[in-house]
Amino acid sequence: MLEVPRNIVKPSRYAGNEPNAVRNRRDKTDVRFALCYPDIYDIGMSYYGFFLLYEIANRLDGVWCERCFAPWQDMEEHLRRSGQPLFTLESRTPLSQMDLVGFSLSYELNITNVLNMLSLSGIPIRADRREGRHPIIICGGPLTLNPKPFDTFFDLVVIGEGEEVLENILQRYRALKGLPRDHIIQELAGLEGVYAPLTGPDKAVKRLYIEDLDGSYHALRPPIPVVGSVHNRLNIEISRGCGNGCRFCMAGYGYRPYRERSVGRLTDIIDRALDITGYEELSFLSLSAGDYSSLGELIEYVKRAHPTTSISLPSLKIGSISEEEIRMLGEGARGGFTFAVEAASHDLRKRLNKDIDVETLLRQLPLLRACGWRNLKLYLMVGFPWETEEDLRSVRQITDPCLKAGIEVNLSVSPFTPKPHTPFERLGVEDEAVLRSKIDVIKKSLPNKRVKVKIRDIETSLVEALIARGDHRLHPLFEHLHEKGVRLEAWSEKFSIAPYREWFHKNDLGFGEFLSARSENTSLPWKFIDTGIDHTFLRMEMERAERGELTIDCHRGCAACGLACRAAPDVCQGSVSGPANLSAATRGGPSGDGYETYTLRYAKFGDARYIGHLDAMSLLVRALKAAGMRLKMHGRYHPKPRMALSPALPVGIESTCELLEVEAEPIQDPHDMLRRITRSLPGGMRALELRPISMRGMNLTFQYILVGGEFRPEGADLWRNNRDKRAFYLWSGANVKELWVTGSFERIIKVDNRRIDGIRTRNQRDVQRNEDRIS
Ligand code: SF4
Repeated sequence: MLEVPRNIVKPSRYAGNEPNAVRNRRDKTDVRFALCYPDIYDIGMSYYGFFLLYEIANRLDGVWCERCFAPWQDMEEHLRRSGQPLFTLESRTPLSQMDLVGFSLSYELNITNVLNMLSLSGIPIRADRREGRHPIIICGGPLTLNPKPFDTFFDLVVIGEGEEVLENILQRYRALKGLPRDHIIQELAGLEGVYAPLTGPDKAVKRLYIEDLDGSYHALRPPIPVVGSVHNRLNIEISRGCGNGCRFCMAGYGYRPYRERSVGRLTDIIDRALDITGYEELSFLSLSAGDYSSLGELIEYVKRAHPTTSISLPSLKIGSISEEEIRMLGEGARGGFTFAVEAASHDLRKRLNKDIDVETLLRQLPLLRACGWRNLKLYLMVGFPWETEEDLRSVRQITDPCLKAGIEVNLSVSPFTPKPHTPFERLGVEDEAVLRSKIDVIKKSLPNKRVKVKIRDIETSLVEALIARGDHRLHPLFEHLHEKGVRLEAWSEKFSIAPYREWFHKNDLGFGEFLSARSENTSLPWKFIDTGIDHTFLRMEMERAERGELTIDCHRGCAACGLACRAAPDVCQGSVSGPANLSAATRGGPSGDGYETYTLRYAKFGDARYIGHLDAMSLLVRALKAAGMRLKMHGRYHPKPRMALSPALPVGIESTCELLEVEAEPIQDPHDMLRRITRSLPGGMRALELRPISMRGMNLTFQYILVGGEFRPEGADLWRNNRDKRAFYLWSGANVKELWVTGSFERIIKVDNRRIDGIRTRNQRDVQRNEDRIS
């Protein structure tokens, strides 16, 4: 059981007891692999790619993959103070005892967290300081398209999409285990898309990508967060890559070509994953969901087969979603629409090859309003070399019609960073003062308060650009930052540019060394990465930008980027095969009659005692749905079940008598249903009793068992004394939280009085079993 001090915020982050977490493979395991996300749990648990690799690794014979996230500052201080190393969530094994440790890198400001996590595990941060006893440290993810600024901290770097190569790495390691560490690293560095920074690369490293996305594995059973994560919903990856060719976009170039999953495959994935997880919201993952060739068909299927499930589309190209699709999404859509406008004026957008149809959006505004949408999110960038004041002011051409249609606008403005592997890779970052003045022009041109403008912090953007465009000269910068205790920089309250400026000043360097424009004669640090895209093509695209010319996108033709891809322009066009395979969890939906009120009594014990009240509520609803309970949904726009819960149980206190009341279609076999609900709950949460009555009808009274401790509160009766080793008291009162924070008791367990009084009912045999487990 996880034991942490009571001042730790959200201790569930460290418990590893999520539904679908793979916790018991120790006996069958030859290879122990820690998959790490270098930010805190709440962020890392939102990433589809992270879960995809987790599932793929755990499907392999002899491999056990566990998760590890950066601890929040309070937990780090606790680990350092108590001399404990950072551990994996599932088995609480120190990272230093793993065979392989892999970091998924998707954000520049997370590199400092990698170093902190390594040092917290007792693993030297530099690859050249590691010895035979240390695990092999690997990195992959979008950031490795320019790995030079940080590659010295890794034994192996993976470039591109990681699912196939991860399988190869783990299987090869299993075959080689026992051989000298250096030998294994060299063997693994021989795999395509992989290199070992200590000895190479001695030739270009090819970026990996999956050619047959439709045939590739899709995650079905992601561990469900026990602490509200940033995006807590079921991610369905409908397509990968982007064919639009926006000249500033590293994702667009770094994930080419555009590939789709067929509708038939996706409907099967959706049915199975909803059954397993019970999620009430789907997010269709794509770099541009509106480009998916069968979006209408897919939305229509979800609305028909899972009528109570809402859909969100993370990012849309303006004009890419049809009126029919908006209507279908209509009331079931979540989160509104987010459009990446990028540049305010049409002329500037042509230079960026951002060919969007603003007129279509403006025509669709009344429909969006009629479908219940009251606001739009728009993304804009500033700092392009051709930008004029007139361009910046023309943002009103989009915001004014929105306001006139009764739709508010949230405008997010970020500085432009010229990214590696794009046609703009040799441009410079705009000067800080100029960026500020350009942002001022935008702000002043939008006096209406119904346009909320959010500006990306410029200093943060400059540091991101520095790392994105950096090279090996930044290795000592990261060591300096690590020594200064820099970490968790993605959190604005933790970020400061001061330690960066300090290092640059000490080394007589300026940010300009990395941020300024680079001539055609300068060698680029990311040149050794072979993305498959022709350098001549990038140069020609830059020239077209200078002339303000558009290039055809991969959906309508081929611009001959050099990839010679097989997917485009004839992308996968699957369709739903046979009758809709309705899932047990969500079939039916709110018919309006035939529902009954049920009350579930459940237990929270062990590590689950750290799960907060609201998180427990979401987990319970998902478990009920995954178990096949058909809940009555309420609400027109975002349908939700109506629930009542017993008063919030303070975090840290265990209980066998928490209650949840819901309305659901009649249940034939409550005992079987209890078993299925428990199977879908986190470790330490258990469904104990399900009765067709309201919560008030349960008529529970309860007391607390106080375990151990010398302090005996007023009114507490000694209940049991375990041969003088441990005292158990029975106590009733309202201020249990105060008792808990005094720290006088090892455990406090809320129990049903019926059990204490010795009254047994059929269901209370479950209580007995669970209380035995607890005590
Ligand atoms: S080869 Fe043609 S279709 Fe394929 S990614 Fe390049 S431009 Fe697009």
